[in-house]
Amino acid sequence: MINLVADLHTHTIASGHAYSTVNEMAAGAKENGIEILAITDHGPNMPGGPHLYHFGNLRVLPETIDGVRIIKGVEANVFDGLGQLDLPVEVLANLDLVLAGFHVGAGYNPRSKEENTAAMINAIQNPLVDIIVHPGNPEYEVEISKVLEVAKKEQTLLEINNSSYYSRPGSKERCLEIAKEAKEMEVKVSLGTDAHYCKQVGKFDLALELVEKAGLGADDILNSSVQQVLDFIATKREVKEELLEVD
Ligand SMILES: [Zn+2]
Ligand SMILES: [Zn+2]
Repeated sequence: MINLVADLHTHTIASGHAYSTVNEMAAGAKENGIEILAITDHGPNMPGGPHLYHFGNLRVLPETIDGVRIIKGVEANVFDGLGQLDLPVEVLANLDLVLAGFHVGAGYNPRSKEENTAAMINAIQNPLVDIIVHPGNPEYEVEISKVLEVAKKEQTLLEINNSSYYSRPGSKERCLEIAKEAKEMEVKVSLGTDAHYCKQVGKFDLALELVEKAGLGADDILNSSVQQVLDFIATKREVKEELLEVD
């Protein structure tokens, strides 16, 4: 049984359609054996989502809450075919973790498979992006092998999203394909709960069942080790800092 120690995709009340505070999320993490909790509220393009100031001010949160390490992040919205995100570079570069993905009503609505693939690849090539969320969403069909190829090159990870089984029907087959191809190509995946309520933090049951079925082990999953997560963030940070200097 694979044990995961970090939840890198979660939402607080700041997202507008999630129901717990940061402290409640940290308590939920602790309860479920999670040592690293990333707070990744939706980007400002999400209806009801937080203002940009929310992200700039995340620095006021402590490094740890009751022993749980807090990672300050965002789930940014891709809003066009160029893979552009709904937060400016200065804000994104100062966050610990940038997730990015497609959300209906947040700028980029489903287009053809070719267009979706191009938009996702553009987002992957953005050095500020760390993880692409729910790439298995059947509403936004993409060419999985092409996406994985670029992701491998850019050291951007694809996510297997535990909530997809509830909120994005038809995700299972695609996620299975992503997991299998990732394993073959020797690229790690990240598992996220996409928790919108504190009791869901660290609950990866369905995603874990799927990756195990695809033949993945702990070594194939980023968030199976605290050190692995911290190293990933640190490596990506170097790239972000270079980008800030250029600006
Ligand atoms: Zn949400
Ligand atoms: Zn989410």
